[in-house]
Amino acid sequence: MPTPVPGVHHVTAITADARTNYDFYTDTLGLRMVKRSVNQDDPTAYHLFYADERGSPGTSMTFFEWEDMAPGQVGAGQVGVTAFRVPEGAIDYWIDRFDERGVDRDLELVEGATPDGASDPWTAAVPEASAIRGFHGVALFVRNPEPTAELLTTMGYEQRATDGDRRRLVADGDLGAVVDLVRTDASGQQGSGTVHHVAFRTPTDEEQADWRDTLLDLGFQPSPVIDRKWFHSVYFRGGSEVADTGGVLFELATHEPGYDVDEPIEELGESLALPQRFESMRGNVKRALGPLPVDKD
Ligand code: ZN
Repeated sequence: MPTPVPGVHHVTAITADARTNYDFYTDTLGLRMVKRSVNQDDPTAYHLFYADERGSPGTSMTFFEWEDMAPGQVGAGQVGVTAFRVPEGAIDYWIDRFDERGVDRDLELVEGATPDGASDPWTAAVPEASAIRGFHGVALFVRNPEPTAELLTTMGYEQRATDGDRRRLVADGDLGAVVDLVRTDASGQQGSGTVHHVAFRTPTDEEQADWRDTLLDLGFQPSPVIDRKWFHSVYFRGGSEVADTGGVLFELATHEPGYDVDEPIEELGESLALPQRFESMRGNVKRALGPLPVDKD
């Protein structure tokens, strides 16, 4: 088998309001907006990336803004819960912060140690002792956990615990290494407030290609490698009854080139980053998107 997958690379969700989303993720949660771009298939939609200071793999939560999209329903076939890692002893700080701000809690914060070098927490809004380090993991909601459990095991995850309809699989990585598989019959409906897909880390292009070949052998139907500028992506969901991710859209994403390939670390997220083919329309694209408080160009 190819090199085991160390954990989640990024999670991409849907928001109906980029302004509110920006305020919550940068000010309340204290993450850094490391990239401000558009959906590569739809330049009228923002694609916002929040992460640690340098956009380390395993730290980025990203959002498509689709303003007309109705609220979704969390259920089978989706990432049901996204959990961030905070340092040991930080939970009380966060409970107070959320109480003060009247925040409904539908994300999870989990205390735990993060190895040195795995992330550089962004400390503009939250002190370093409490700042989010990156992902702890995700919970996948599925009707039948078996095929997804088998796939994750093949990817290098080990089953560590079961509790009723929940089983926990853990990879050998520093961030985003935990996947809970939760069996449910509740139907999921994509919409604002739901997760669009989860990306797992395949650090190099070679490892990604090996995994893509392995998925084909297993009966999955992975996409070709797609150049997302800051990483390279392969998407897959299923192929047959046994080659199945429980309906959840999975992605494999590389560590390279990284979010600093087109702007210096100090200026991440300050300019609107557009795919080359939309550059000639920059003025129109910007008008359609509307401003964010960070706007500098
Ligand atoms: Zn993605």
